[in-house]
Amino acid sequence: MKAWRAFERLVALTTSDEHDDSITTVIPNARLKGYISGRKRQIDVLVDYRYSADLSRRLVVDAKDRKRPIDIKEVEAFEGLMRDVNAKRGILFCSNGYTKSALRRAQEHIGIRLVTEEEIDALDFSRWELCRSSACKEGLVLWDTYKAVICNGLISMYGLGKCDECGCFHVWCWDCGERQHLSGEDHWHCTCEPSWIWTSSKQREVDVSGLANDSLFLLLVHSDTSYDVIDRRPL
Ligand SMILES: [Zn+2]
Ligand SMILES: [Zn+2]
Repeated sequence: MKAWRAFERLVALTTSDEHDDSITTVIPNARLKGYISGRKRQIDVLVDYRYSADLSRRLVVDAKDRKRPIDIKEVEAFEGLMRDVNAKRGILFCSNGYTKSALRRAQEHIGIRLVTEEEIDALDFSRWELCRSSACKEGLVLWDTYKAVICNGLISMYGLGKCDECGCFHVWCWDCGERQHLSGEDHWHCTCEPSWIWTSSKQREVDVSGLANDSLFLLLVHSDTSYDVIDRRPL
């Protein structure tokens, strides 16, 4: 694994460990269309509201693996990216420090964090596994949260994650051990034959200002066709 990729993954893991997974979802290597630029923007780690396109909790995280301290220009470019994707908060992780002016420029809505070489070396990728999509070459799955489904007094547990290359959802049944990816609009259930089915579905939400946001939702669809929103990835 390339050093910068390990650094990005450490940042994704750190972000995942620190967020509240009952409210927000962590999307490693996200791609968002800029509201101002109209261009697709790559984001190392995006933290977004889990259940709808409510942007109030949007946080963008950038992994700056540099041989020198990050400077004011990089903070300004990052702020431009934040504005473009409508994020009020951001965190810059850097591997070799930052200048005083960069820190002053960052102010309170941008956090700057240092990552040491020891932290990168100590990284354990055992929580990660290869993406199960055959079309995806090098993606690893960030298992971000789990979900308990209670039916007739029985509890079924599922691990949930997303690939950091192609972005597809992954579901892992802890009873039978089966794992599956859901790419695009898709559905799946394991051999436990539960009465529900995992479904990924594209939906558009338009907010009060007329801004349209497309998301791919991961839904748990019950036999009576009612469903719970489990996860979301903005498109
Ligand atoms: Zn993948
Ligand atoms: Zn199962």
